[in-house]
This record gives sequence, C-alpha cells and structure tokens, in this order.
Amino acid sequence: MTKHGTLGVAVIGTGRMGADHVRRITEVTSGARVAAVVDIDAERAKQLAGRIDGCTAYSDTAAAMADPDVDAVLIASPGPAHEAALLQAFAHDLPVLCEKPLTPDAASALRVLEAEQRLGHRRVSVGFMRRYDAEYLKLKELLDSGRFGRTLMLHCKHRNVATPPGFTNQMMINDSVVHEIDTTRWLLDQEITAVTVLRPTPSAAAPDALSDPQLVLFETSGGSVVDVEIFVNCGFGYQVQCEAVGESGSARIGDGHAMVTHSGGRWGGEIDQDFVTRFEEAYDREVQRWVDATRRGETEGPSAWDGYAAAAVCEAGVRAQATGERTPTGLVERPAFYR
Ligand code: NAD
Repeated sequence: MTKHGTLGVAVIGTGRMGADHVRRITEVTSGARVAAVVDIDAERAKQLAGRIDGCTAYSDTAAAMADPDVDAVLIASPGPAHEAALLQAFAHDLPVLCEKPLTPDAASALRVLEAEQRLGHRRVSVGFMRRYDAEYLKLKELLDSGRFGRTLMLHCKHRNVATPPGFTNQMMINDSVVHEIDTTRWLLDQEITAVTVLRPTPSAAAPDALSDPQLVLFETSGGSVVDVEIFVNCGFGYQVQCEAVGESGSARIGDGHAMVTHSGGRWGGEIDQDFVTRFEEAYDREVQRWVDATRRGETEGPSAWDGYAAAAVCEAGVRAQATGERTPTGLVERPAFYR
C-alpha cells in the first residue's frame, strides 16, 4: 500500500486542528510521517514544514497530492474547502481522513458520495472522533449487547466555556450538535428522521444574536427520541455527557470523574476546558486506527455516507431552529455501496 513502508501523509490546512494532527503524526502515531503540509497561508505551511524532517510545504493542494512521497491525505482545512480536496484525492486514488464536516451541506456531500462510488472503492474516513473515545466505546458495546433491551432515549449535554467572536446560531448546530448527530446515529445504529429545536430565553452571558442555550430533539428511524442541551457559553467548562435509557437499565458517560478530591468539607474534581484535552486520546486513537487500516490497504471508520447523513440532519436542524417547527430530515436512500 505505502510506497516507503511508513505512510507519508499530506496534512491540508495547518490551523488549530491541522497543526495538532501534524504534532500527533510526528510525535504520537506509529507507522506514519508528515510528508507534506498545505496551507493557503504559505508562510504558515513553510514554518511548520521547516520543523519536520523530509516535509515539504505547499500552498496548492493538487501539487501536494502529486508529490511521490504522499501516500494519504488528512484534510483539516475549513469545511467549505473539503469537497475540492476530496475530489482531488479521488483523482489520485489516495486514502483520506477528512475532519468533520465531510462538506458543509447535503448537496455537496452527495456529490462526494457519487464521486467515491465512481472510484469503485471506499477511500474516505470522516473525523468523528467521539467514536474512538473510551467512554463512548464502552457505551456502544453495552447498547449493542442488548443487556438493557432496546434503547428508548438518549439525554445528551454539550457545553462549552465560551464562543469565539462571530459564532452563530447555525454554528451551534453545524459545528457543535453535529457531534451528537453522529453519535446518535452510531450508538443507535439508526437514522435521524426529524429535528425540533426549542429556544429558552437566552442566558444573560449569551453574546448578542446568539440564542444560548437551545434544546435540540431528534426522532429516529427505530422510534427512539434524543434530546441535546447545547449551551456554548456556560462559563464553567467543556462538558459532553450522554445518558442512554434502555428498557431495563440506563448508562451515563461524561461525568469526568477521573479523580475526585475531598478537602475542607467539600468533594470535587476538575472539568476539561476544551475538546482538545477532553478528546485527546480519541484523536490519537482515530489517527492511529486510520494509519493502521490504510497501511493494510483498508478503509474503516465513519464513511462518506455518515458525513452526508450528518450534513443532511444539520440542514434540517438549522431550518428547525429558524422556524421552530418539527422538520423531517429527508435523507436519500442509502446506496448499497455504503451498507
Ligand atoms: P482553523 O481556521 O484554525 O485552520 C484552518 C486552516 O486551513 C488555516 O490555516 C487556513 O489558512 C487553512 N486553509 C483555508 N482554506 C484552505 C484551503 N483551501 N487549502 C488549504 N488550507 C486552507 O480551523 P480549525 O479549527 O483547525 O478547523 C479545521 C477543520 O477541523 C474544520 O473542518 C473543522 O470543522 C474541524 N474541526 C474538528 C474538530 C473535532 O473535534 N473533530 C474540532 C475543531 C475543528
């Protein structure tokens, strides 16, 4: 599969996530190296490449993919740039780990699905890293075992300390709740059929024009109901929790009880402040699994179909948010290629 034994990866986009993946591949992941970095900010790419042996900086994605040292591509540019990079990777038949979102809307995601099907084999894994988180994996195993019967409901919480300037209501769905969309589909092995969004009176800490918090409800193809509290300016920490309620038991993850302290008549612990620390091990596992599968000549993990389904549910969620109405997701039929 690889031309040089070690997988030569081109990392496209060297901002927060891309630079972290470059560090990960260089310092943590085995069996891979960063052969190229690409950024429209040529200086940023050059500076990063200068710190890594045998790494070439590019400002043009197509040129990086034609580099004979490049065996695979990790896309970490902003969502609107993903479709073009994915189609270029298909043209070179290169395996891709694409940070979420696959693309920012359902129509462009469908174009990617069609292009991958024309290629004739799966090449894309989407970076929904919660699927690699130890707690989520335990919950998935429990639900799949059927020990608690059918899963009736999921209660999810997704809280951030604060939003950066310019963060919008739509981004609460597209950038934050998108993770609950993927975990719901994965944990329940069902599609999301309808979305409703309720907006309580905003917190006094919410920036102007942001309706924060919101309650997002999903209905699924198997008759389960999922509620997601999304609260992106909670002020106290980054919290991702999920409680599954089955017919004969419930299970909850995300309490963050790695260490409990007792002192001065109180007990307590620490709360993560962002996703980089909360999901650090999940990102590490995601990239290692992708490298291992790619070196075996296989493609695993969340597929382009999962990326399309997430984009379609996000679109419905943004419509539901604007209208206040229950909004069907209207997914296309899943192609046999992705079953
Ligand atoms: P960022 O803005 O910090 O970095 C983006 C980088 O891409 C910048 O350096 C920019 O110059 C570069 N860029 C822009 N257009 C480009 C193009 N056409 N070709 C090459 N480079 C280009 O963004 P980020 O926060 O690192 O997000 C990157 C991706 O990672 C997004 O898809 C985002 O949704 C995703 N993300 C995923 C998670 C997760 O938990 N899985 C968390 C944060 C971000």
